[in-house]
Amino acid sequence: MSHTTDLHPDIEDVLISADQIRDRVRELGEQISREYHGRELHVVSVLRGASIFTADLIRELTVPTVLDFIAVSSYGSNTRSTGVVRILKDLNENVESAHVLLVEDIVDTGLTLNYLSNMLRDRKVGSLEVCALLDKPERREVETHTRYVGFTVPDAFVVGYGLDYNQRYRGLPYIGMLKPEVYGGR
Ligand code: IMP
Repeated sequence: MSHTTDLHPDIEDVLISADQIRDRVRELGEQISREYHGRELHVVSVLRGASIFTADLIRELTVPTVLDFIAVSSYGSNTRSTGVVRILKDLNENVESAHVLLVEDIVDTGLTLNYLSNMLRDRKVGSLEVCALLDKPERREVETHTRYVGFTVPDAFVVGYGLDYNQRYRGLPYIGMLKPEVYGGR
């Protein structure tokens, strides 16, 4: 057993284990490969949260891919989205006519996804679908369409497997819930 399977002291509970993530990512990879058969997929990964999910997902794809990254930041506190999205790093590639798969870590209020989807459509993509590791539907403020969802999660702040709290915990191999004292005390 590797040390990474030990529970981090700041984590209250594991919501989704590393094994569950691996199995689901494999399933998503199979489904996406099937549905994009014969086409090249332009994967747009949203930094930094989706980086780990994207790295695992593209290795499960059997269709040819182009990998690109976009970095965004929403103003406001870490746990609440304001809907104002700032592009910190734009795409490197031209996406006109491309079959774009936008890969997100989590769809919470939906505001980030909404903003990015509109931006990509303005760039005249050939097609656009979204793949999110996690979906937190209870917090939705705008309607979104996410074709591929890894797991639906309850309304709690989660970290690990790319997701952070104050830039920490991204390297945890599972999705976990933080202890309340970690929230309040820093
Ligand atoms: P939105 O509210 O759907 O716009 O979510 C925007 C971003 O907030 C996500 O891409 C995440 O990076 C972050 N986020 C939302 N909920 C959580 C969470 O529970 N843990 C860690 N990050 C989160």
